[in-house]
Amino acid sequence: MSHTQTIRPPVGERVRLADYNPDYHGAFASKAEAEERLQAARDRLRELQSVLYAEHRHALLIVLQAMDAGGKDGTIRHVMRGVNPQGVRVTSFKTPTPEELDHDFLWRIHPHVPGKGMIGIFNRSHYEDVLIVRVEQLVPRAVWEARYDHINHFERLLADSGVTIVKFFLHISKEEQKKRFLARLHEPDKRWKFSKGDLAVREKWDDYMRAYEDALTRCNTPWAPWHIVPADRKWYRNLVIAETLVETLEGLNMRYPEPEAGLDDIVIPD
Ligand code: ATP
Ligand code: MG
Repeated sequence: MSHTQTIRPPVGERVRLADYNPDYHGAFASKAEAEERLQAARDRLRELQSVLYAEHRHALLIVLQAMDAGGKDGTIRHVMRGVNPQGVRVTSFKTPTPEELDHDFLWRIHPHVPGKGMIGIFNRSHYEDVLIVRVEQLVPRAVWEARYDHINHFERLLADSGVTIVKFFLHISKEEQKKRFLARLHEPDKRWKFSKGDLAVREKWDDYMRAYEDALTRCNTPWAPWHIVPADRKWYRNLVIAETLVETLEGLNMRYPEPEAGLDDIVIPD
């Protein structure tokens, strides 16, 4: 897929989100135009997941981060549709429990890292600990400052252990968030998703963007790269993510395990 607007910020370069248009949609004029490509990517993803599972050599960790209404749930629903549920586990990270807070911030994360053969999806993640925690000043500055390094080392450990990590920031505009909040308020089947607390977070939009820019800059490593996904158009977001996952898995050069010898002569008894 060729992008005029890059989705993969170069490692080591400072990310400025103003340089990334959330409404970017490549060469496609409409959802309908992109549909075939999305379907093809989904089909390929299903095949690749099947080999990943059978080969049992790699794990894939997908990290999804976004502002509220940024489309994390929709991404999982639309992109992973068709993939064998047995091979995928989604973990949503909420406000930490008192027990979790009694430990280091990665303690609750580590058990949910996918094992060999599995795809793990983090709906929010350890990045909350340098996002909401930083903006809301839930810990002293020195504590969250140290976490960028902790995260890079943690992700390095995972990568060295056979986990391929792909991180997506679903980049929506403040205007698009407003539209989606209004939809949540006005459509009966979306209302349950509206939380008044989300408005307090929206008020600090600029602080969050700064915190995101730092996470996207400081934790953008060769072993766990960030992708900045234009996400105002859901269909383009889905396409970018689906194709990125396909590309990532294809890069692993996976193969089905060799079957046992002598299968050609097998007769199944009645
Ligand atoms: P939806 O988009 O459907 O509302 P959500 O991911 O926002 O889903 P919620 O239950 O609404 O789920 O919110 C979870 C909340 O937990 C978020 O506000 C998030 O910032 C917060 N959270 C997650 N991890 C941490 C953390 N480590 N410290 C503090 N807050 C956290
Ligand atoms: Mg929420």
